[in-house]
Amino acid sequence: MDTAMLIGSDMVKGEDQEERILNPKTGGLILDLPEASPAQIDAAVAAATKAFSAWSKTTPGERAGYLLKIADAIEADADAFAALEALNCGKPINAVRNDEIPAIADCYRFFAGAIRNMQGTIGGEYLPGFTSMIRRDPVGVIGSIAPWNYPMMMMAWKLAPAIAGGNTVVFKPSEQTPLTALKMAKLLAEILPEGVVNVILGRGETVGNALINQPGIHMVSITGDIATGKKVIQAAAKTVKRTHLELGGKAPVIVYGDADLEAVVAGIRTFGYYNAGQDCTAACRVYAEKSIYDKLVADLSSAVSTIRFNDPDDTQNEIGPLISQRQRDRVASFVQRAAETGHIEITAGGSVPDSSGFFYQPTVVAGALQSDEIVRREVFGPVVSVTPFSVDDDVVGWANDSDYGLASSVWTKDISKAMKASADLRYGCTWINTHFMLCNEMPHGGLKQSGYGKDMSQYALEDYTVVRHVMISHG
Ligand code: NAD
Repeated sequence: MDTAMLIGSDMVKGEDQEERILNPKTGGLILDLPEASPAQIDAAVAAATKAFSAWSKTTPGERAGYLLKIADAIEADADAFAALEALNCGKPINAVRNDEIPAIADCYRFFAGAIRNMQGTIGGEYLPGFTSMIRRDPVGVIGSIAPWNYPMMMMAWKLAPAIAGGNTVVFKPSEQTPLTALKMAKLLAEILPEGVVNVILGRGETVGNALINQPGIHMVSITGDIATGKKVIQAAAKTVKRTHLELGGKAPVIVYGDADLEAVVAGIRTFGYYNAGQDCTAACRVYAEKSIYDKLVADLSSAVSTIRFNDPDDTQNEIGPLISQRQRDRVASFVQRAAETGHIEITAGGSVPDSSGFFYQPTVVAGALQSDEIVRREVFGPVVSVTPFSVDDDVVGWANDSDYGLASSVWTKDISKAMKASADLRYGCTWINTHFMLCNEMPHGGLKQSGYGKDMSQYALEDYTVVRHVMISHG
């Protein structure tokens, strides 16, 4: 197992406090990993700074060549990457191997192509005797900080557009899930020039905090909690760093009475519980029209009861455990408080199974009201709430009545109803008759407290580059 960080061209162990890396399926220790010392953090920023002048002058075609090599190397070692991610996160191996790794390789390939094809305002004479042109140049040194729910995928979403755009990066994975980042560090050291990407380990309050406050960092890109995003904004104010914030979500799922109920149930069973609901776009906040509410709750509850999650034969599992005991306890306490309201019924799951590890039963919470905590706060676990609405209720207003603004979906056979709702929803993404489908060509990112800035797509390249005006006098 790779345990060294990457600073410049050196593979080095952290010199500070050790963090326990646990297997979420058993609760057992995988290994202890030391975090970066303050001197190592500074060294990583210095290495990225030094690498910037040469890397930023490479052509898009040259950078594309490196990105394609990274994608090929990930694919060549896909089984090992999948096994490591599954071990560290508790994810079913097939989900990582068949869903995540191909999307990760495709992310590097997408940005390899996209950087060679950026579009923009045409140059010309906007003042007589002067020719203007627009450049898109790199921002500089990026501090990238990732969460624990999709460690290798979030690394790809952050590294690929940043280095494609000519930036250099200091990357910090979550302290809970650093293992694939360390394997990637070794792979990147073999492919990229020295210092273009640096990988350092550590906790948020120590290494993350030092990174976002480091004066040599020009932009901070973070995926994480809203509270963490606020800290990044505060730190960024000191030296006016750019920020790119992908924060939490609480996706509303509006199901009108005319929807294809079978497709709705299958969709929520998949998209509400994938990755044990530890997904910022999870279909977790269902609003069901009263005409179909009872049937939806009944069918969804029986469908959710069949989700396979702790079979000793991992190939049978559809979801895994929560990332930690703390997260499992947090999820359990949300469901307990919901049950204590008196008006909410737990119609599937609702407890911790009798097994080792950090599992929680896939759960349906029916009869939730708009004002209930379970409808308003991000649970980040395998828990879906269902709230009834009538034709007279402003269901889109209820869906928008949230601090979050990342993802949403609308289920109906009526195209005009779907188009009206999607125009009125205040979310970075609205799916119609589906949920959670992502592709590297399309942007992902939030509104409101879900943050700002886009991952994936040409829009991410815009975020990781700056527009500059060059004007030439005709003399
Ligand atoms: P978190 O905010 O606790 O941690 C995310 C990262 O930030 C970790 O690497 C952590 O070490 C670091 N961090 C924490 N405190 C920091 C600080 N003071 N300074 C600098 N860095 C700090 O979030 P998490 O628990 O790892 O992830 C779950 C959260 O991420 C959820 O809220 C989820 O919705 C969100 N998320 C959002 C998206 C999206 O695209 N919008 C995607 C995945 C996860």
